[in-house]
Amino acid sequence: MNATIVKQDIRKIDKATLEDFFVSIGDKKFRAGQVYQWIWQKGVCSFDEMTNLSKSLRTTLEAHFTIQAIKENKVQKSFDGTIKTRFQLHDGHMIESVLIPVPEDNRYTVCVSSQVGCSLTCTFCATGRMKRVRNLDAAEIFDQVVQVNQQCLDTFGHPLTNIVYMGMGEPLLAYKNVLESIERISAPDGLNMSPRRITISTAGIAKMIKQLADDAVKVNLALSLHAADDLKRNQIMPINEQNNLAALMEAMNYFFEKTKNRISYEYIAFKNFNDSMDDAKKLVVLCKKFPVRVNIIEYNPIDQADFEKSSEDKINAFAQYLIQKNVTVTVRRSRGKDIDAACGQLANKD
Ligand code: SF4
Repeated sequence: MNATIVKQDIRKIDKATLEDFFVSIGDKKFRAGQVYQWIWQKGVCSFDEMTNLSKSLRTTLEAHFTIQAIKENKVQKSFDGTIKTRFQLHDGHMIESVLIPVPEDNRYTVCVSSQVGCSLTCTFCATGRMKRVRNLDAAEIFDQVVQVNQQCLDTFGHPLTNIVYMGMGEPLLAYKNVLESIERISAPDGLNMSPRRITISTAGIAKMIKQLADDAVKVNLALSLHAADDLKRNQIMPINEQNNLAALMEAMNYFFEKTKNRISYEYIAFKNFNDSMDDAKKLVVLCKKFPVRVNIIEYNPIDQADFEKSSEDKINAFAQYLIQKNVTVTVRRSRGKDIDAACGQLANKD
């Protein structure tokens, strides 16, 4: 009777296990290091590309393992240079990543997804309507960086400079895999990108923000704030009911005290909801707890939500007020809105 070998994803096993494998087939331990380099440093997706291994060894690896790489499924380019890519995962699910080029600042940012769908149901967000299917594994997040980096080189002749975990899903609910992906992306024997150029963006889970601090991560943290009082925040982000602003401020302060890493608030301006002077005053109070910068983001309406974008005049007045109060502010014009690639628009739409 022929026993069928169930192939394991080689990127899900650690180096020691891989070393044991090579010894078990009568080869040398150091092969594991060579394979690790191909996988995590060069980001290859097939055994055939591992050209310093003999053909017969590559065939043996192929017989025992798979590489469950993500595959480009659809690419959309915006008039403003933004590129959205839909990727298919090995089990058929789809996710999206967005490349946001800002050549004048020499900044090329990829926004990566951490989950298929999202469980958090923020009312303004298209992903929140999709239901969470599963977390991405570390390699699936890593693949987005590798593939979009190549896209960035091919299109703009420049590698990625920044990575934001701000695509589909809540990164702190895929915690272990997100941290593992950061390790692979930033390790000298991985992609060797500086963790200072990586930002985790969260809807606000106090316990996990503290966990990040305890795990001494070197990445930046962004809180999707979007409202500066609990009443309003509860209306648009149900997660706020268990993680109110007091709890979040305490957790962010803990994060800052322990890591001294950069913190920012993301603040989408919704017309007549959170764009008044009263809202600006409340926001200033939250900016005095620890050093923080504010990114005010223009809203991109989605079909399923009632919100409208705030006017340019109102956004400017709002920002001006914060500046007067010595808050560091950036106003982000929306990017990629014609291809549904802007904040809150990712939903695998055709
Ligand atoms: S804004 Fe983020 S956390 Fe909220 S539903 Fe959308 S993807 Fe999930």
